[in-house]
Amino acid sequence: MIDVLVVGGGPVGLATAIRCTLAGLSVTVAEPRGTPIDKACGEGVMPAAVRRLTALGVKPDGHPLRGIRYVDERHCAEARFRHGDGLGVRRTVLHAALAERAAALGIPVRPARVTAFTQQASHVTAAGIEARYLVAADGLHSTIRRILERSGAPGPRRSAAPRYGLRRHYRVAPWTDLVEVHLTAKAEAYVTPVSADVVGIALLLPRPGGDDFEARLSAFPALSRRLAGAACASDVRGAGPMRQDVRRRVYGRVLLVGDASGYLDALTGEGLGVGLAQAEVLARCLEADQPGDYERAWRKVSGPAWRLTAGLLWSRNQRLLASRLVPAAQHVPWLFSTVVNHVAQA
Ligand SMILES: Cc1cc2nc3c(=O)[nH]c(=O)nc-3n(C[C@H](O)[C@H](O)[C@H](O)COP(=O)(O)OP(=O)(O)OC[C@H]3O[C@@H](n4cnc5c(N)ncnc54)[C@H](O)[C@@H]3O)c2cc1C
Repeated sequence: MIDVLVVGGGPVGLATAIRCTLAGLSVTVAEPRGTPIDKACGEGVMPAAVRRLTALGVKPDGHPLRGIRYVDERHCAEARFRHGDGLGVRRTVLHAALAERAAALGIPVRPARVTAFTQQASHVTAAGIEARYLVAADGLHSTIRRILERSGAPGPRRSAAPRYGLRRHYRVAPWTDLVEVHLTAKAEAYVTPVSADVVGIALLLPRPGGDDFEARLSAFPALSRRLAGAACASDVRGAGPMRQDVRRRVYGRVLLVGDASGYLDALTGEGLGVGLAQAEVLARCLEADQPGDYERAWRKVSGPAWRLTAGLLWSRNQRLLASRLVPAAQHVPWLFSTVVNHVAQA
């Protein structure tokens, strides 16, 4: 029997596997997709997350990010990171770097989609593997979480206003080393430089769909002008609905981490950073054989980001407040800088 079976070999699953292995636990990952795995993401890794990756021994190539810029039709607010750079990094590059580190540590990756498991007092069995713990890192629409919900565990609350994400890359030299966020009344466009000649655009929208990326981009005229004539450098990928309310993370020997453990919105670009922090505390709980401590540890590392994102989402939904966000950030730069650096260090 192994110590930990991690279901899902995305960034948080691999980070959990690496952390657990470094803590001396025996780990196997079950992931049906081959390396490197792509996904709809803004691809902005905040400074604290860069440090967490470095601590795992993972240093992906990317484009340095020095802060965040908010832009609307008439206003612009900028804040620099005070404690180190972030990194704009293609998901495929990030995933390959994590997978390489996992392979170097000898972590087996089983090419399996886990659709069932059984739980006994002493262990969990899934994909023919017996493990003391099963960690579900299988993303927003976690199969493991759904099984737990079907088996009587409390289900998620319904999301009031679902939001969706779309992304595409363009071959163009980055015009900034900031993550540039363009806001309209109902949507946001995130520009993240990921290399010397590619920028990623992530759109956060109140409706799903991916076949009309250019039409949706045209709602951001300044950004459309920047990208005019630039060749597309990737397919359109979508994700959502983003909000996944999850009431518990610990179900005996089955524990949830990363997006599978609950997600609010990509508005503040903290998903990877928070997921890496969750992986760290989860590995500590399993190393100490205290899975029950994880719920509280999860809330401690995830709570601040959740509250900030919830607050920002709420203001985006208030008609009078929404149009004043960028002007306020421009006119009170110290406050904007404080919020940006709170996100950066989360
Ligand atoms: C539009 C958008 C923009 C974003 N922008 C940013 C950003 O700029 N910065 C940031 O930090 N975060 C951002 N995020 C959030 C970030 O992408 C996620 O938080 C992060 O990908 C979570 O990683 P994960 O490993 O938990 O899940 P995932 O990356 O979804 O990985 C889950 C893995 O589980 C596997 N899997 C699924 N089902 C099974 C199964 N049954 N059995 C085995 N394996 C399975 C999948 O193949 C996948 O590899 C964004 C999210 C969206 C939607």
